[in-house]
Amino acid sequence: MVISSPARAGTAAQERFRSEVRDWLRQALPPDWGPRRRPAKRLAERMDQGKAWQRTVYEGGFGGLGLPVAYGGRPASATERLIFAEESARARAPEPADIFGQFILAPTLLAMGTEEQRERFLPPIIRGEVMWCETFSEPEHGSDMANIQCRAEVDEDELVVTGRKRWNSLSQFADWTMLLCRTGAPDSRGRGITFALVDLRSPGIRIETMPMLTGDDRETEVFWSGARVPLDNVVGGLNEGWRVAMAAMTTQRSIGTAELVPRLAVVVQDLVALAARTEVDGRPAIEDPFVRDGIARCATDVAALRRTGERAMAAAAMGRPLGPEVSIAKLHWSESEQRLHKLAVEMLGLGGLLTRDDEAAPDEGFWAHYWLWTHALTIHSGTSEIQRNIIAERVLGLPVKR
Ligand SMILES: Cc1cc2nc3c(=O)[nH]c(=O)nc-3n(C[C@H](O)[C@H](O)[C@H](O)COP(=O)(O)OP(=O)(O)OC[C@H]3O[C@@H](n4cnc5c(N)ncnc54)[C@H](O)[C@@H]3O)c2cc1C
Repeated sequence: MVISSPARAGTAAQERFRSEVRDWLRQALPPDWGPRRRPAKRLAERMDQGKAWQRTVYEGGFGGLGLPVAYGGRPASATERLIFAEESARARAPEPADIFGQFILAPTLLAMGTEEQRERFLPPIIRGEVMWCETFSEPEHGSDMANIQCRAEVDEDELVVTGRKRWNSLSQFADWTMLLCRTGAPDSRGRGITFALVDLRSPGIRIETMPMLTGDDRETEVFWSGARVPLDNVVGGLNEGWRVAMAAMTTQRSIGTAELVPRLAVVVQDLVALAARTEVDGRPAIEDPFVRDGIARCATDVAALRRTGERAMAAAAMGRPLGPEVSIAKLHWSESEQRLHKLAVEMLGLGGLLTRDDEAAPDEGFWAHYWLWTHALTIHSGTSEIQRNIIAERVLGLPVKR
């Protein structure tokens, strides 16, 4: 069974860029980097590798692709950014650690930050020197973000923050966070929320990790007890954070197609290879009609996601900002990842449930690890139900029943 790459040949300039990236990756990849995403390595080790890799990317001349040169970026079209992601995926390069800074905060600051904030925060992000996280959700408020309770009082030229955040990915490894807090009246909903950039080493912030199914405790709770944040770090103005948060979430939901789908395409190839060397009922799984059908579905998902990404890039090139239609990509990408890993685990039978802690686990426990992880994909960055609501109401214009 041959699954061809969904990448299409581009213009001569794009193909030159692709060769440049390919040549650079060949000599830049760490010698100890294994053949695939390595769940066998513990999270802390993978984060160190991701942090080192983002600095290597910058030093190699590929940091801040598409971001202004004035802040240390490099001019690049959306297609070139996709080419970089595709080639990195194909070479199985490490994933950068600072997803939140590079892919969410940087575009948000460009759109809504002050010039002073861009000059201060963008260069370290582009150079890969810092790591950011996102502290929006709370124990009682995830989908209903307008209901945020974490409180911030203005005291002269600072905010004083008190409250509790939950499900904050990778905060234990981060230097800074994007915080959403309530500065308006308790019932002010979206009108009383402020978006602030906070140094996580500030006094009054405590981070605790949460246990996860995969054994990688990547989620945290962040406790705030009088942490002080300069008002200069507020993006978009006091009580104006809703707009900024919506822009950040829109960008976040579009990351899948731009950055993660190329990696998913590589996992489909791995699935084909797995099916060729796995036996089901005494014959290679690849000959099983159920498996073949499932793999074809996964390959079709990836091809469709790539076209969705291209459509968004074409719209952006014509000056149309990202809108609620990014929910289509988020929904489809997260459910596609789940389908793919579920198929692999089903194909492997009981062995598919063995994790990295078991020596007999196929592929060092890769399939079990990511199958468990993919359960989270339809929750984080907005659940599938919320994406379906957005698509129904704001993309298709269906009547809203409350
Ligand atoms: C692995 C992981 C990583 C995360 N990372 C971060 C992070 O880095 N930063 C951060 O701030 N947050 C993060 N989150 C939090 C995430 O954004 C929330 O969990 C998510 O928005 C859902 O909120 P909730 O958990 O409060 O569930 P709820 O909002 O209570 O929802 C419970 C259920 O009800 C459904 N539901 C709720 N409202 C509606 C509605 N109006 N219509 C239909 N169905 C509805 C939901 O779809 C869900 O099935 C992460 C979560 C996970 C699991």
